[in-house]
Amino acid sequence: MKFVADLHIHSKFSRATSRDMTYDSLALWAKIKGLHLVATGDFTHPEWLFLTREKLESTGNGFLRLKSRPQSEDPRLADVNCSPDDVSFILSSEISFIYSKRGRVRKIHLIVLAPDLESVERLNGRLEGLGNLRSDGRPILGLDAKIFLKIVADLCPQCVVIPAHIWTPWFSLFGANSGFDAIEECFEEMTPFIFALETGLSSDPSMNWRLSALDKYTLVSNSDAHSPSRLGREANVFQTEFSYAGLVDALRKRDPEKFLHTVEFFPEEGKYHFDGHRKCGVVLSPEESRRRNDLCPKCGKKMTVGVLHRVLDLADREPGVSAAHRIPFKNLIPLNEIAGEALGKSGDCQAAWDIAFRFAREFGSELAALIDAPLDDLRRIPPESVSRGIELMRKGLVEVHPGYDGEYGRIRLFAAEPAGDQAPGQLTLF
Ligand SMILES: [Zn+2]
Ligand SMILES: [Zn+2]
Ligand SMILES: [Zn+2]
Repeated sequence: MKFVADLHIHSKFSRATSRDMTYDSLALWAKIKGLHLVATGDFTHPEWLFLTREKLESTGNGFLRLKSRPQSEDPRLADVNCSPDDVSFILSSEISFIYSKRGRVRKIHLIVLAPDLESVERLNGRLEGLGNLRSDGRPILGLDAKIFLKIVADLCPQCVVIPAHIWTPWFSLFGANSGFDAIEECFEEMTPFIFALETGLSSDPSMNWRLSALDKYTLVSNSDAHSPSRLGREANVFQTEFSYAGLVDALRKRDPEKFLHTVEFFPEEGKYHFDGHRKCGVVLSPEESRRRNDLCPKCGKKMTVGVLHRVLDLADREPGVSAAHRIPFKNLIPLNEIAGEALGKSGDCQAAWDIAFRFAREFGSELAALIDAPLDDLRRIPPESVSRGIELMRKGLVEVHPGYDGEYGRIRLFAAEPAGDQAPGQLTLF
């Protein structure tokens, strides 16, 4: 079957997450967004794992589902028709590794997917002796990531480990501050255990295609949501057997017949696309910051080097060069943000959400409205500026203000639209 999967989220037990990250609201929001498979997140956390056992049951295919219909006190979710069969969960967690290797401090995040609760128990049992799993849904271990792979390969070889948001400056495989320049430097003889990488919000697949070293890896995209309304802002669309084995096979083989495409932010919208210094309000392209030796033109201190800069440092290919077995991708903007801009208001205001919910209801889900719905059908729902916004987004006719140093970027749809004119906007890209 065709299904949309978000493999990296966090529960309410992770730091800086919404209290609303519970299984009921995750299922309801997944239904609105158009996701069929959502990560449990945080399976290393004892209390969340307890709730997982309480609320979910196995579906016999390596996934889990709610035991009963999801309930919510959020009035926006009151009329969402979601049965336990509509949304499945995959056991998933993220772990932060902080350790020293070859004279440098390394900080990287890894996602782990598991086929069953028994594997999770075995893994947690071992990790408990190595660090505190209770303090945070995304625990910190002072363990070499390579040793972690050995433990996983030994205890639960069916588990999948995916390096998370591989380009972000802090806490990632290739991060400018505490990462590596090559996958092999990090995982050494365990490198073959890795076959998929998460591109993160600030990079999209085409940026990653600039590195021939990544050709043999499957690129996945996930929301890393800390609140339920952010679910599915990046996701993966499959056409294969709906099971843990089917999913892993599609990821491993990178077969475009089975892994149809990913859903992406415009990478400029991510928090670390460009270089900059947030305190000074300075944002620079990689070319500009190179000219300034990465020093902030205001305060003279070292700026945070963003994702694009890091990709350019390690790239060995010009943009646009094609290679075999690439999974296509689609850049999307969340529907509430499109509605907010159409209204001249914040994407988080009630009016923007009302419109987003209306479109999701009419077309089955947010992703269906953003990707699949014919424009003529979209235009039947007022206000017309929203369908116009979706049209501009699909054509990539957007104005981008890149994110930097932890500040989200902004994507403007209507900035280039002459007022009252329905002519296509001017393409403005950095
Ligand atoms: Zn992370
Ligand atoms: Zn995360
Ligand atoms: Zn500065």
